[in-house]
Amino acid sequence: MLKTTIAGSLPKPSWLAEPEKLWAPWRLEGEELERGKQDAALIWLKEQEDAGIDIVGDGEQFRIHFVHGFLEHVEGIDWQKKTKMGIRADRYVVDVPTVTGPVTRKGPVHSDEVRFTRAHTKKKLKFTLPGPMTICDTIADAHYGKRADMAMAFADILNAEARELEALGVDTIQFDEPAFNVFMDDVKEWGIDALHRAIDGLKCTTAVHICYGYGIKANNDWKETLGSEWRQYEEIFPAINESRIQQVSLECASSKVPVSLIGLLKDKDVLVGSIDVASLEVETPEKVAATIREAMKHIAPERIFPCTNCGLAPLPREVAVGKLRSLAAGAALVRAELGS
Ligand code: ZN
Repeated sequence: MLKTTIAGSLPKPSWLAEPEKLWAPWRLEGEELERGKQDAALIWLKEQEDAGIDIVGDGEQFRIHFVHGFLEHVEGIDWQKKTKMGIRADRYVVDVPTVTGPVTRKGPVHSDEVRFTRAHTKKKLKFTLPGPMTICDTIADAHYGKRADMAMAFADILNAEARELEALGVDTIQFDEPAFNVFMDDVKEWGIDALHRAIDGLKCTTAVHICYGYGIKANNDWKETLGSEWRQYEEIFPAINESRIQQVSLECASSKVPVSLIGLLKDKDVLVGSIDVASLEVETPEKVAATIREAMKHIAPERIFPCTNCGLAPLPREVAVGKLRSLAAGAALVRAELGS
């Protein structure tokens, strides 16, 4: 009960990429880089295990960006043809690559990484992939014409990838869909259908991560516009509860999300974000425990997996380690109270 896990990313060591910076370029190249990514993943497997995290991941040490790291392996994208696009409904305007033909996978994307991490931990292993809707909100379309159609094409690719990762021993595959908090109508119209296509035929645990993003300025500014209560989840949770996705990872720590909204997910496992990713302050185990107890008012403890709000990538390494330890210690406090 109350098994702990992480949303996904963890800081890169300073010898691999500039610390405390999201999407920093690699500091190594060639074979040194490949070895370096593996070494970084090993460090984080060990740190997670030492902290007492139950379901561990590679901390996304093998990629710079959670969407582009996948798209680099997809055919049908013109990386030279940049299109200016306002992503997450104009929260950031960036030059993005453009889809110019049918998208197909060039080959396995993350298999080697999973083989490596699987061989180095006996814990349950989680792997994160970008969700189809979020991919479509990170790339321009000059081929499909409709976002929903492009999302289905990406969902097929993600499904092929996910099936391979499952066969290599991944226990949980999580799709990251921060776009779900922005395009709530699209979630109901086609976002969940696309996720269903991505998880088709999988026997491992499946999850969707829906957050309010990393603690970076553009996100923090956006959060200021959301009012005193963030109720985006309220619009999409009923549809997600009806879906075949088994777990939902969401943000509960130090945010304005009313925790009662998780009561709308009564048929799901809920990864309760109990660690704030926008603050350098390491939560005390007691604070983590308080967040978990708050969630338990709305959902049974058997359904709760204490987790981080989002990735810890932009944080100083010691802060991230401290937060992992507090997450596990906080969950242990509540487990002890429950006598389990
Ligand atoms: Zn997130």
